[in-house]
Amino acid sequence: GVRHEPTSKIVLDLERLYDEASEELAYVARYARAIQQQRGDYNGRVLSIRADDLRALAIVYDASPSGLIERLNEHGVLVADPRAFFAS
Ligand code: C2E
Ligand code: C2E
Ligand code: C2E
Repeated sequence: GVRHEPTSKIVLDLERLYDEASEELAYVARYARAIQQQRGDYNGRVLSIRADDLRALAIVYDASPSGLIERLNEHGVLVADPRAFFAS
């Protein structure tokens, strides 16, 4: 069968992403706004994104998907566990 990399769901912290002043994340922020628009999902504090979209974004950043995840982590815009996020 087809083998997949074990990836967990990618969840963005929208407040932190949109507040983040760094130019580095400008494309991620723009992409997230576009996805919100396509889904009509405007009220969330977090946004789950497709693995396919992460792959496309990684190309823009000239990085691997895991490399981009690392960068997003460094900027603190990933939510590891959305349920724990809302419990806190
Ligand atoms: P679509 O891809 O034809 O998906 C139609 C509907 O199927 C979506 O409506 C959603 O309710 C459901 N759906 C599709 N894939 C998934 C999935 O992986 N997880 C979940 N939970 N539901 C899924 P929705 O959300 O209103 O989106 C409407 C259209 O907007 C989608 O049509 C797609 O063309 C686009 N879209 C929405 N979100 C994304 C995204 O994250 N990435 C991309 N590339 N397109 C998106
Ligand atoms: P919630 O909306 O009350 O959803 C609780 C759980 O129900 C989710 O846990 C998930 O396991 C399941 N669930 C809800 N909607 C879908 C869906 O469209 N497809 C599938 N397969 N499962 C679904 P999860 O993923 O850990 O998310 C926890 C909370 O984080 C959600 O509570 C919601 O408040 C928030 N969240 C996560 N992703 C998004 C997002 O893309 N947009 C928004 N607005 N909120 C999100
Ligand atoms: P999820 O809803 O828990 O879906 C997990 C995985 O199941 C998705 O990973 C995808 O591989 C598959 N899947 C679920 N629904 C569909 C579907 O309607 N069509 C297809 N072709 N595959 C489906 P993926 O794509 O990495 O998405 C990760 C998460 O991003 C989803 O978790 C969901 O929370 C969110 N998401 C992705 N696409 C959409 C969308 O179009 N609309 C909405 N509302 N949420 C989406």
